[in-house]
Amino acid sequence: MSSASSRRWLMFWSNNVFEFDPIQTVSVVVPVFNEEDSLPTLIERTQAACAQLKQDYEIILVDDGSSDASATIITKAAEAANSHVLAVLLNRNYGQHSAIMAGFKSARGDLIVTLDADLQNPPEEIPRLVEAAEQGHDVVGTLRINRQDSLFRRMASKLINLMIRKVTNQPMGDYGCMLRAYRRSIIDAMLSCHERSTFIPILANTFASRVIEVPVQHDERKFGVSKYGLMQLINLMYDLVTCLTTTPLRILSIFGSLLAFGGFLLALLLIALRFSLGPDWGAEGVFMLFSLLFIFIGAQFIGLGLLGEYIGRIYQDVRARPRYFVQKTVGQRRFSKKHKDQA
Ligand code: UDP
Ligand code: MG
Repeated sequence: MSSASSRRWLMFWSNNVFEFDPIQTVSVVVPVFNEEDSLPTLIERTQAACAQLKQDYEIILVDDGSSDASATIITKAAEAANSHVLAVLLNRNYGQHSAIMAGFKSARGDLIVTLDADLQNPPEEIPRLVEAAEQGHDVVGTLRINRQDSLFRRMASKLINLMIRKVTNQPMGDYGCMLRAYRRSIIDAMLSCHERSTFIPILANTFASRVIEVPVQHDERKFGVSKYGLMQLINLMYDLVTCLTTTPLRILSIFGSLLAFGGFLLALLLIALRFSLGPDWGAEGVFMLFSLLFIFIGAQFIGLGLLGEYIGRIYQDVRARPRYFVQKTVGQRRFSKKHKDQA
């Protein structure tokens, strides 16, 4: 290890000086589900791209229960002499984000880069992500400059990204692209989360303090079709929302309160009209019934929202995300912890 590379680096950021560790090793994590046609090119191109790095590297290919020859191809690549490939084979299909988490668990690098196996993310962009992380960023996101997906997918993405930006307050515009890089501290924080369904780029940003987004190329899928049909996209959307916030549950209460309050105002208005314009205006109590209905339906929503608040809190506790994550503790311990009885 050279003295230069083991040196800590200082950087100015929004008038704060902070310290960050040098990146000496890089892990590339790729989830694979029935991608036998793209795998040989993927492995070749990823290896060529990583060979340009000054860091040592490993390529972790996670087979997510493929039913084609993907697992065999990955295993062969890992068994080759002097291979940088590590094969992680899951026993069945768990989904893209779970497969990436499995890859994170095996990754040893100071920086972990994720990308898709279908070659939509060009592996040649890896050195640029590493470079951005070396400048001190702990999450490097990407912006697909010429996104090659259907109009429906692009529009849905725009809407979702807008929503995430509003909730997270992080200046990132594209959460859908999985070509991303995370520093070790962020990976460790994510691995200490116990929820089953998660959306990695959002989870990472809940722990990140210095994020950046770099523009990258995006290619068309050359082999096979997208693994995300309508149902999987809906499922992903739920993962994304629940990973992000429990606010939708609170919205129930707010909606109920507004409805009940509206019903109450309507009742007041009807009474006033009844007295000022005469009994005809009452329409034999039909409108009054409506206002009562609004008040009761509103009350039901408030009740549901309250239940939701409790469920939301139970959900937060069950998934047991760490309340905070200490990146580093500096300084010598002056004394060791004493057990009460030893005193
Ligand atoms: N993938 C996976 N498990 C799944 C679905 C997808 O590991 O259950 C992998 C897939 O092999 C690819 C990446 O996740 O490497 C992205 O999938 P896809 O290209 O189908 O998604 P899209 O680009 O259409 O969003
Ligand atoms: Mg794809």
